Amino acid sequence: MLEVREVTKTYGRTTAVDELSVTIHPGRVTGFLGPNGAGKTTTMRLLLGLERPDAGKALVNGRPYRALARPLHEVGALLDAGAVHPGRTARAHLGWLAAAADLKGTRISQVLELTGLTAVAGRRVGGFSLGMRQRLGLAAALLADPRILILDEPVNGLDPEGVRWIRDLLRGLAAEGRTVLVSSHLISEMALTADHLVVIGRGRLLADTPLTALGDGP
Ligand code: ADP
Ligand code: ADP
Repeated sequence: MLEVREVTKTYGRTTAVDELSVTIHPGRVTGFLGPNGAGKTTTMRLLLGLERPDAGKALVNGRPYRALARPLHEVGALLDAGAVHPGRTARAHLGWLAAAADLKGTRISQVLELTGLTAVAGRRVGGFSLGMRQRLGLAAALLADPRILILDEPVNGLDPEGVRWIRDLLRGLAAEGRTVLVSSHLISEMALTADHLVVIGRGRLLADTPLTALGDGP
């Protein structure tokens, strides 16, 4: 479970997150929706302990989380799919992450398969398209088989087939009782992916609602 309790975060004169309170429950895909600059990434970074709130609390299973102290284990995160060493192969990139996080490398083939990257595992990531980098970022997030996933714009750069694939993957993970939080600035995308919507604008909560409450769904 993820909890944001009356959190405010400012950068200079910009209020990125403004007295935001919301709880993200396990067992469903929660879509974090809002226009660019709404505060989605900042909220995710606060939950991961990569930023400290000016006020309020961001909690993972009731405690502040420190992603850097124990990367990948409790929470799998996809924040910036571009952040890869271009000269490494996909398999070497995952191997490096697994070693850095003190994980056994035995999951690498599994997550490559899960994300459809087996055939390109030996290619250098510098030549990957954005969609392929997104898949690799998701593979990294899944390495430790975490109970919680925080994914910032994971659909970015995927083609329609990739969008369907990620929807099925995320719904499967949520059905196993995991907590899945996925951001997007596109309502059309969220309508296809999420069961539950959390909408923010200018750092404030605008809606927290099951998607079914908004109509018959897709
Ligand atoms: P979103 O993910 O919804 O696009 P962000 O959380 O990235 O929104 O940004 C919210 C606001 O905070 C924006 O106005 C953005 O410019 C600002 N912001 C985010 N991170 C920083 C930072 N490190 N320094 C200064 N301003 C920032
Ligand atoms: P698609 O449009 O089929 O999704 P991509 O955009 O994923 O193709 O890839 C663009 C091109 O770059 C493809 O021809 C692919 O084979 C090639 N490519 C992908 N990764 C690498 C790499 N690491 N090194 C060299 N070429 C690559």
